[in-house]
Amino acid sequence: MPVLYNKDMPRNPIVSKKIKDVLQKKHLASVPQILEILEKNGEKYNKTSIYRSLEKLHEKGEICRQTFSGNESLYELRKDHHDHAICKSCKKIVAIECTHKKEEQRIPGFFIDHHHTILYGICSDCLIIKEELRKALNVS
Ligand SMILES: [Zn+2]
Ligand SMILES: [Zn+2]
Ligand SMILES: [Zn+2]
Ligand SMILES: [Zn+2]
Repeated sequence: MPVLYNKDMPRNPIVSKKIKDVLQKKHLASVPQILEILEKNGEKYNKTSIYRSLEKLHEKGEICRQTFSGNESLYELRKDHHDHAICKSCKKIVAIECTHKKEEQRIPGFFIDHHHTILYGICSDCLIIKEELRKALNVS
């Protein structure tokens, strides 16, 4: 008899724990970044087991997966809800306070579990560069 993979069986609790430790310290990490941090700590895991554990953690609602720019998925812990703003120029992502939690809970016919809101704009660093560039161009 072949041994069937039981979906509800805890996959690898150690890998999950390690991933959560990484995400505790690093806001929004990609799979390569998670692997890199673990490797720096002298822990080597293969990509597949990382993906499997991330999938499991996502199913359990412990982490969130989001794509901001390009197509790389970034992971973060789901506790302490916040939203994100992304700079269109340098692609920097910052955590911002959520301002619309209550309104979203009032959508008829839906129980809202959680949400991801992304605000797009330009960060102050990029704005300064732009302003300086504009000034420089005006002078010449
Ligand atoms: Zn989510
Ligand atoms: Zn920027
Ligand atoms: Zn975040
Ligand atoms: Zn929010």
